[in-house]
Amino acid sequence: MWAMGQTGRVVYKYMNSLKPNDNIRTLSRKEQVTIFRLRTQHAPLNYHLNRINPQHPPMCPLCNDQFETTEHLLLHCPNLDDLRQDLLPPTPDITNILYSTTDQLKNTSKFYHMAMGRRANAHRLLDLRRRRRI
Ligand SMILES: [Zn+2]
Repeated sequence: MWAMGQTGRVVYKYMNSLKPNDNIRTLSRKEQVTIFRLRTQHAPLNYHLNRINPQHPPMCPLCNDQFETTEHLLLHCPNLDDLRQDLLPPTPDITNILYSTTDQLKNTSKFYHMAMGRRANAHRLLDLRRRRRI
């Protein structure tokens, strides 16, 4: 079931160390990768990219908050409030969105992908504006 390349093997190892009742096991592979990335803060967000490359601005492209962290995207960005209301629990926190029921983990994964789409659009606009200024 997990016969795939190097990346897959890393996830496989992790899966073996999971508690038997962790609902991440019940998700599709794509959803598993998403939840795993969010749990380990390995989503490609600006705060984390900035730590690898200091030239990369760390702020949130959606609201210009100083740092676009995993927590900011999931819990705080005001420009994702509508998605949050649709897909996350009324008072979201890391536990109830990332270590939760199968349905919630699926919705958290959906939230992430929709947020990343919105964020990519915001980045495109920022790039356009920057280029016009040059
Ligand atoms: Zn934001």
